Amino acid sequence: MREENCIFCKIAAGEIPSATLYEDDDFRVILDVNPASKGHALILSKEHYRNLYELDDGLASKALVLAKKMIVRLKDVLGCDGYNIVQNNEEAAGQTVFHFHMHMIPRYQGDKVGIGWHMGELKEKDKEEILNSVK
Ligand code: 5GP
Ligand code: ZN
Repeated sequence: MREENCIFCKIAAGEIPSATLYEDDDFRVILDVNPASKGHALILSKEHYRNLYELDDGLASKALVLAKKMIVRLKDVLGCDGYNIVQNNEEAAGQTVFHFHMHMIPRYQGDKVGIGWHMGELKEKDKEEILNSVK
């Protein structure tokens, strides 16, 4: 399953060269061309899925296990102080390439990488509404 004109399909298939850290039948792990920090890498599925909403369940499990393996190894290689795993779904959440991928972003003490949000307060009304509609 692949999509015409999808850049990550082409990179995952090896049709466009990339700085590949790891590859298996399901995924290719590459360095991000516009890194948030030194060592910022992406896990790409080899098959085309728009994002996590559509990802095959088996691949979703494998992706997290692979992310774990990669960051456990890379933290020693890079000497970073922490890691963010980021995965964006749809434009409102910052997704710009609509082919499933996970970001592995090394963090260095005192770096200026901007991953964060202003903490709000859980409102009673929202809590009730969400709990009642999810169950
Ligand atoms: P998103 O915003 O969709 O979660 O992340 C897309 C990521 O893909 C961005 O961090 C961007 O820098 C990276 N990216 C986009 N095009 C390419 C490319 O051609 N090669 C590589 N290595 N990374 C890319
Ligand atoms: Zn694709």
